[in-house]
Amino acid sequence: MAAMVPFSLLRNYSQLVSARAFVVKPNNFNFSKSVLPIQSRRLPFSASAANNEQAAAKAAAVNADSGAPTIFDKIINKEIPSSIVYEDEKVLAFRDISPQAPVHVLVIPKFRDGLTELGKADARHEEILGQLLYAAKIVAEKEGILDGFRVVVNSGASACQSVYHLHLHVLGGRQMNWPPG
Ligand code: 5GP
Repeated sequence: MAAMVPFSLLRNYSQLVSARAFVVKPNNFNFSKSVLPIQSRRLPFSASAANNEQAAAKAAAVNADSGAPTIFDKIINKEIPSSIVYEDEKVLAFRDISPQAPVHVLVIPKFRDGLTELGKADARHEEILGQLLYAAKIVAEKEGILDGFRVVVNSGASACQSVYHLHLHVLGGRQMNWPPG
């Protein structure tokens, strides 16, 4: 059936698939069990997922600078459960609730100190930024993906950031594509 789909549509489709928005949050909707035929369900679903991501990011950005606690504070304080992969005095790494790859771990500073997003980084944050990146490497090692992994930081609404507590996404365990979308 793919031969019947215009090339321009396929190209748009591949860009959407490579975008992180392919899986709708927060539900872990099992796409493969949907009853629609593959071609008819994927194109609109991807576009709608991308729209959902952008809408959620815009909504989250409204309170980005309020200093209000985020869901990650609850995770740091162990008020809600998470699957912790690595922890030290300054850094916490835990599995993403909506994984976009077999390995998808979030690495965050325990003390936000104004780092709602990478775009807010200041010279005083240099040390913790280095620690976060090194922690990402430790996570990759622990998860057995040192041969190839990706570290992503979404900064701001245009990048679809949805939680305003700086975090690194460590992704791996499958072939990653480029460009990322
Ligand atoms: P962002 O969109 O801001 O770059 O990434 C935020 C990430 O946090 C998303 O990938 C989302 O799945 C994850 N996330 C949101 N809420 C929770 C939660 O309660 N627990 C965990 N483990 N991850 C979460």
